[in-house]
Amino acid sequence: MSNAALASTAPKFETVTVETATVACEGGAGPLGHPLVYLHLGHDRQATCPYCSRTYVLAEGAKLGGH
Ligand SMILES: [Zn+2]
Repeated sequence: MSNAALASTAPKFETVTVETATVACEGGAGPLGHPLVYLHLGHDRQATCPYCSRTYVLAEGAKLGGH
């Protein structure tokens, strides 16, 4: 028996579901932290933080602001 398959399924980067078209990211606490940046979710409803590579995805049903 082996548990190897379980250990290899974790995604490399986090995906965070948000409900607004603008999100503030500071990478969280600890060594992954970075200066506060604002990310704007565009027509594809997602944005990736250039610092920590987290991907923010607009929740289904959430409204984008007027354009
Ligand atoms: Zn970040």
